[in-house]
Amino acid sequence: MKLTFIGADHEVTGSMHLLETSDTKILIDCGMEQGRNIYVNADLPVSYKEIDYLLLTHAHIDHSGMIPFAYLQGFNGTILTTNASMDLDRIMLLDSAHIQEMQAEYENRKGKRAGRDEVKPAYTVEDAQKALELFRPVAYNERVELSDTVAVRFIDAGHLLGSASIEIWLKDTDGQGGTVEKKIVFSGDIGNTDKPLIRDPQYITEADYVVMESTYGNRSHETDVDHLEDIRRIIQEALDRGGNIVIPAFAVGRTQELLYFIRLLKDQNLIHGHDGFPVYVDSPLAVEATHVFRENLMDCYDDETKEMIQKGINPIEFDNLVLSITTEESTAINFNPTPKIIIAAAGMCNAGRIRHHLKHNLWRSECSIVFAGYQAEGTLGRVLQDGIEKVRLFGEDIVVRAHIETMKDMSSHADQEGLLKWAQAYGRISGRFFLVHGEDEGMAALSASIRENTGNEVDCPYSGSVFDLAAGEWLNVAEPIFIKKDDEISVRNSEHNNELQAAMDQLQAVVDRTKQGANADKLKLARAILKLAEKYGFAF
Ligand SMILES: [Zn+2]
Repeated sequence: MKLTFIGADHEVTGSMHLLETSDTKILIDCGMEQGRNIYVNADLPVSYKEIDYLLLTHAHIDHSGMIPFAYLQGFNGTILTTNASMDLDRIMLLDSAHIQEMQAEYENRKGKRAGRDEVKPAYTVEDAQKALELFRPVAYNERVELSDTVAVRFIDAGHLLGSASIEIWLKDTDGQGGTVEKKIVFSGDIGNTDKPLIRDPQYITEADYVVMESTYGNRSHETDVDHLEDIRRIIQEALDRGGNIVIPAFAVGRTQELLYFIRLLKDQNLIHGHDGFPVYVDSPLAVEATHVFRENLMDCYDDETKEMIQKGINPIEFDNLVLSITTEESTAINFNPTPKIIIAAAGMCNAGRIRHHLKHNLWRSECSIVFAGYQAEGTLGRVLQDGIEKVRLFGEDIVVRAHIETMKDMSSHADQEGLLKWAQAYGRISGRFFLVHGEDEGMAALSASIRENTGNEVDCPYSGSVFDLAAGEWLNVAEPIFIKKDDEISVRNSEHNNELQAAMDQLQAVVDRTKQGANADKLKLARAILKLAEKYGFAF
């Protein structure tokens, strides 16, 4: 019995691990690499055709996004996951396939003009649909025998609707006529505590080996954050000014949490003087995800939510909630002058319908734009948070007069204390912890903390490493392989950045000198700078 590390090793996306016994081959997650990619991932050492089972911890694309690709490579086994993950992954994989197709189409339009060969999408909507037929749901806490050597059980990880940690029992021959038994747990992504709707992560107390995520291994969330009060104040103030509240939010998870808070505010009459204010959810993916959340997935919800449902209350439904879908319906939202809340994708404002709503609301000082999630550097969301005064949207200059607000820490990941608590529940184990799904700093901090507080051995393997679970020893310790292209780009970048900064300093000197001169010169210079900015694509 052995474990091969393939993806999300010293990285936070592209989760994939291979577990093999004498008669069964299992993949745990099959995620897509997104954003910053530092290390080269090892190839799967076996053919996708040989894989018997794929166990999916949760529906996020960095854990499930390559499932249709695996299908295209010949994977025809069974995909096991919880009911809710299956429903969410259906909409997320179809959405991802649609994006793959659009990107390939865009590349090909450009490529044709440049005489390049046609590129193919990683997979199409049709491929995703076929892969979805391989899904079989499992209930939380139910032990399922997969073969003579493997049994599994899904435990709530409290990270996203349907998310799970997976316990795996292995029983195999030891090669000398006897048998060897080991238990390994894959944490999946571990949730933050006290999240709306879903349960807190469940603790597991026994294992020989634990493969554990470490995303926030070196961070602590703010404590004593009152999200309900946060959003109440923002909504009250904007409605009092007669403005709209525009919230860029991730379609799956965050949007439904916001609906939960808004229902509470409405139910408890905590917003004064604006009875029945409308709330629009303007993203087809968010609307579909909201339907999945609404269906009676009693096995995922926390006690508070279950109690509501039993009283006949749907926790994310209320009067004047409009789930808008068509482009015409989306456009109509801004022609209706009634102050309202608009929740739209994408979460960082880099694409999607949110950009239309920003165009219509950013310039109005009575409106509020509310960030409810992390805004990565270089995104429109981040520059707005940083206080930019003017942006360019759809070829138009839009002045930023709306109030820019940021909700405090709504993370769906456990922080260092949460992760440590989850690890401590095992006590001292016979094998060891393997940290994955983290960047170097997070892994280093968490491994030190687990070692110190539990006395357990902790390893942070790179992609390509192979561990013999029966013998308890490494069969291969892989060295990190950096992605070459990024390397070269970063060296080149730093030289050119210096040159650019020097030119910028010179421009600043010209601006300072002109400020003391004639008004006509100031205007001329201002226009020249704006033209330059436009020429180099400063069009958010
Ligand atoms: Zn996740």
